Amino acid sequence: MTDASAGPTEFDADVAVIGLGAVGSSAAWRAAVRGLDVIGFEQFEPGHPWGGSTGATRLFRVACLEHPGLTPIARRARELWIELEASAGDRLFVETGGLMIGPPDSHIIEGTLAAAAAHGLPVERLTAAELADRFPGHARMNPGDVGVWDPEAGILRPEAAIVAATDAARAAGARIRTGTRVTAIEPDADAVTVRTDDGSAVRVRRVAITAGPWIGRFVPGAPLTPHRVVMTWFRAREGRTADLDVLPVFIRSVPGRDTWIWGHGAMPAGGASDSDGPGVGGSGFDGGFDVKVGPEFDGPFDADDPDAIDRVVHEGETDEIGDLVAATFPDVDPEPSAVTTCIMAHTPDGQFLVGRTADPRIVVGGGCSGHSFKHAAALGELVAQALADEPPFTDAAFLDPRRFDV
Ligand SMILES: Cc1cc2nc3c(=O)[nH]c(=O)nc-3n(C[C@H](O)[C@H](O)[C@H](O)COP(=O)(O)OP(=O)(O)OC[C@H]3O[C@@H](n4cnc5c(N)ncnc54)[C@H](O)[C@@H]3O)c2cc1C
Repeated sequence: MTDASAGPTEFDADVAVIGLGAVGSSAAWRAAVRGLDVIGFEQFEPGHPWGGSTGATRLFRVACLEHPGLTPIARRARELWIELEASAGDRLFVETGGLMIGPPDSHIIEGTLAAAAAHGLPVERLTAAELADRFPGHARMNPGDVGVWDPEAGILRPEAAIVAATDAARAAGARIRTGTRVTAIEPDADAVTVRTDDGSAVRVRRVAITAGPWIGRFVPGAPLTPHRVVMTWFRAREGRTADLDVLPVFIRSVPGRDTWIWGHGAMPAGGASDSDGPGVGGSGFDGGFDVKVGPEFDGPFDADDPDAIDRVVHEGETDEIGDLVAATFPDVDPEPSAVTTCIMAHTPDGQFLVGRTADPRIVVGGGCSGHSFKHAAALGELVAQALADEPPFTDAAFLDPRRFDV
């Protein structure tokens, strides 16, 4: 460390990135390609299962029902995911198209159409009859339900994408320290000191806090509720099919219930072919995956300690989602084929926290709220732009952490 009385402050790096998960790995990559001297810290190994990015797949949508301002972020993310595929030589994204199904005045339909209208997206509106004809796997609906087809939707591989972004950061010159837990971030008048659990410290000009469910440890005012969730996979019933072509990516109502579910159909082992949309091919999806279905997460949420998540899925915990699967998909066996736990981190308004805090040297990137993976590459870019004093590539004021006085 530098003796302040000896002259101008010396820095160990321009930027420290704390947490190399979905957003942090991309923030380190995008900051390093801008020529910043980056040092990135990850408490585990990239692509680990202990944060918010585990579970083999994540839905990608462009007509973002959560906020029309997310569409340009999804589009930029798509470009970056495809760039990462090329550098990794591994398929990270498969474009399947996606279906939103619900009452015409539901948030699912109205939000999707609002994003499409704001950005001239080529979505298709489908009547119940058209939907049943084209997508028989989704034919069970409530009377009056309609569909919207987003042709640019698809599936990402979160763990592989994080590994690829971390490798890209390294290739662009970032120093990456894995298995290293940051224990304190101490801003003073000249610099920000980052202390780690191996007893070392670095002094940097700026810090990106991309610690996912752990962000609250370093940004005490951040209104973030980490919450344990269970993920569930299912298989087709004997003699039936529930592959992606009959059950494309979806967010949809449940027949006879006042709730909704999200997920995608199965991909058989053998993976995506080059005809399945953008990408460079490769073996990424070769292992295939089962049908995935998850419930609406509507809160209020108990705050769980991200270091003490119960990783056991207990008897009865999947009964409710099995019941929703049985009500919706006649061809899917409602007994889960696999289960695991993951952590969501919710903000009060369901939007992310991306940008400078009251101390402009401290930039936050996180606040998952259950829908940030698709955007993560571009959220990393926004973090990098804040670190580099560049204007953001799109208007991201609705994600500004200072809306919560952080
Ligand atoms: C069940 C579920 C389903 C989801 N489905 C979708 C979906 O279909 N589509 C979609 O777009 N989004 C989805 N999401 C949301 C998305 O997966 C998450 O929002 C996103 O992956 C979170 O990324 P993150 O970078 O904020 O956090 P993480 O990926 O958890 O990264 C945070 C990282 O910081 C590290 N870290 C924390 N503290 C420290 C420390 N002190 N020192 C060093 N490192 C530290 C952690 O180890 C971790 O690697 C889903 C989320 C869940 C839980």
